[in-house]
Amino acid sequence: MERDIYEEDHEAFRDVVKDFMKRYVSEDKRKQWEADGQVDRATMLAAGEAGIIGLSVPEEFGGAGMLQDYRYRAIVLEEVIGAGHGSLAGALGIQDDLAVPYIAHMGTQEQKEKWLPGMATGEILGALAMTEPGAGSDLRGIKTTAKKVDGGYIVNGAKTFISSGKTADIVVTFVKTGEGNRPDAFSLLILEDGMEGFDHGKTLEKMGFHGWDTAELSFTDVFVPDANLIGGKEGLGFIQLMMNLPLERLSIGVAAAAAGEAAFNWTRDYVISREAFGERIADFQNTRFQLADMATTVDVMWAYIDRAMLLYKDAKLSAEEAAKVKFWATDREAELLDVGVQLHGGYGYITEYPIARAYLDARVHRIYGGTNEIMRDLVARQIVGKR
Ligand SMILES: Cc1cc2nc3c(=O)[nH]c(=O)nc-3n(C[C@H](O)[C@H](O)[C@H](O)COP(=O)(O)OP(=O)(O)OC[C@H]3O[C@@H](n4cnc5c(N)ncnc54)[C@H](O)[C@@H]3O)c2cc1C
Repeated sequence: MERDIYEEDHEAFRDVVKDFMKRYVSEDKRKQWEADGQVDRATMLAAGEAGIIGLSVPEEFGGAGMLQDYRYRAIVLEEVIGAGHGSLAGALGIQDDLAVPYIAHMGTQEQKEKWLPGMATGEILGALAMTEPGAGSDLRGIKTTAKKVDGGYIVNGAKTFISSGKTADIVVTFVKTGEGNRPDAFSLLILEDGMEGFDHGKTLEKMGFHGWDTAELSFTDVFVPDANLIGGKEGLGFIQLMMNLPLERLSIGVAAAAAGEAAFNWTRDYVISREAFGERIADFQNTRFQLADMATTVDVMWAYIDRAMLLYKDAKLSAEEAAKVKFWATDREAELLDVGVQLHGGYGYITEYPIARAYLDARVHRIYGGTNEIMRDLVARQIVGKR
């Protein structure tokens, strides 16, 4: 089904992304990123040069100023994931969907001036650290503390599963600045690479996304100046997270749709080219029915997600709607990739093939950004409340 949400400017931007992919991304590079466990800095800088990173950085700070129009980010995801480069898509996404928004939407003028220009060029890479070894879904159970001292805070604690945690220059970090677990007991502090006592820890070995780092972080008596408190006011951290989570969840939904569509494309091409019993795999009735189902699911996914992107653009995408998008799209993505792998036969299990990598990458889409169970609970709260 033809999609109609993109305008001329968006399609011109798609050409820019395609050109970037042609010039800077290759199978050799992908293998290198996977061996290194991270996308190299030169490629991130090239993304900055091409203007496909830091899209939501306002123009006055050197960015593209696309704070609310997620369609540009969707084009990046479609092109990068569609070309089989999930790790690169992830690395770009952390910067744009998880790090930049906290500074661009909620930072002080001083914070914007200090970090946004470098985030638009790729010279400064960011990460978001909420999860801890003992607290993931239950974020108010975190133990990392930030104790007020003269001129700043002393931070102690540890975070885990932090995407781009190894490569990040700055980490937006969720900390406890108050007692108990009331929403106003939490704040967001920017921790900078090189601060004494801030250790990037070890890189975790994952099932998928091998070319994109996920790390443990630890903080031992790290002094963080007042100037690094997001928004300049203590006790806003929990609300600030809630403000950006719809974007994070929309972005996972878009990535899921892009991967679902890619699964369909790769599978269609494969079953047309492969033969068994003297026929194309595409000629077996089972394959034909599966392809018809896949194509229809992809159409429905985009129709739903396109609508969500337009709602987001108009600042109307609620937390519950974003949660629905996240769990529904990632569940469909999993089904599409599973069928795709099956129709590739043994080749579907070989990571040389993009379908196998995308299958492994996709598994975490149902876990991070809030698990799909937590997403369903959020939606159910709106339907029946919670005692
Ligand atoms: C590759 C990767 C990258 C990540 N990137 C980041 C990052 O950049 N920044 C960051 O802060 N975090 C990141 N995370 C962490 C991720 O967001 C958490 O793993 C996730 O929120 C789940 O938390 P948990 O692992 O502690 O699981 P738990 O909260 O312990 O959950 C375990 C199981 O219990 C279920 N469960 C928990 N509570 C409920 C409930 N109330 N009702 C029903 N079921 C429930 C969960 O759905 C899950 O199935 C990443 C994780 C991974 C694997």
